[in-house]
Amino acid sequence: MAAPRPEPVFDQPKIELHVHLDGAIRVQTILEVAKRRGISLPADTVEEMTQIIIVKKPATLTEFLGKFAEYMHVIAGDREAIKRIAYEFVEDKAKEGVIYVEVRYSPHLMANTQVEPIPWDQKKGDISPDDVVQLVNEGLSEGERAFNIKARSILCCMRHMPSWSMEVVELCKKYRHGGVVAIDLAGDESLNCEACPGHRMAYEEAERCGIHRTVHAGEVGPPSVVQEAVEILKAERIGHGYRTLEDKGLYKRLLAQNMHFELCPISSKLTGACDPDFTKHPVITFKRDKANYSLNTDDPLIFNSTLNLDYSTVQEYMGLTEEEFKRLNIASAQSSFLPKKEKKDLLNKLYEAYGMVQRTVF
Ligand code: ZN
Repeated sequence: MAAPRPEPVFDQPKIELHVHLDGAIRVQTILEVAKRRGISLPADTVEEMTQIIIVKKPATLTEFLGKFAEYMHVIAGDREAIKRIAYEFVEDKAKEGVIYVEVRYSPHLMANTQVEPIPWDQKKGDISPDDVVQLVNEGLSEGERAFNIKARSILCCMRHMPSWSMEVVELCKKYRHGGVVAIDLAGDESLNCEACPGHRMAYEEAERCGIHRTVHAGEVGPPSVVQEAVEILKAERIGHGYRTLEDKGLYKRLLAQNMHFELCPISSKLTGACDPDFTKHPVITFKRDKANYSLNTDDPLIFNSTLNLDYSTVQEYMGLTEEEFKRLNIASAQSSFLPKKEKKDLLNKLYEAYGMVQRTVF
């Protein structure tokens, strides 16, 4: 990656819970796969291609989504590429000091060769969403063995495609012992679930079967989207959730419930979700209130960022200290979607690394 890698501000084991596989691909890999597949790209060096893909200043949602269109057709529908990006993702996270990561993606978008929905079974040569999940699982588990960290996945429903959601939950069920730990809902928050019963049905099925649930909500959408995520979709974690703070009653209730917020500081600036002035960022309020939250990169490829950049930014502009980094990583482990025994082991690893004598009690 072209971004400079300054010395880590928190050089300790970390947990990351909100990062998109298709937003965390190496540019070099995109170039190599394009060459192998005979796909022409507007640039053929890492430096030039990086400049085309990255968002440099706060963007609109359309601009942001357009960035995926620059390279997703290279990776989507290609078995070797899908497995490779999952494997390399684990290597990159291990280098960042992450010991446990939950990575998410839409199996349907990775199966299709175009961002616009064309049913995968009508497209010759494509692979199915089920194939995609198997390939990602293989790449992640090979990466786990090679780089000695733990990686699990979350399958995303897309707000604009409610007809995919039941398939997504079925894939979560099928691969719950193969590395998939939860379901997510991503995309344009203006499409609420009242108009899209497919998502609600999928989340009901997830709850019925004990599949964990997170939802992108309150990133750019109003607090009512967060409320819907918690009350209707029974979300156990909220992706972003910054705008929860605008509804004091809701925020208070979620604090009391110990709801986990997956915060992504660099992302929130470059997507225009939050005020670009970091000294006014919602992280400051979450920290003040000792909320349950994690720090995450979201789409490091598109933001030309690293997890360390998120950590150094909150340290510099939002007053986060080493103690707070420890606290939030412990909260992240506690809010991870691992089974009880594995969660306990993960927490003990953190307590040990952080020099804390406390052992987790369940
Ligand atoms: Zn996200």
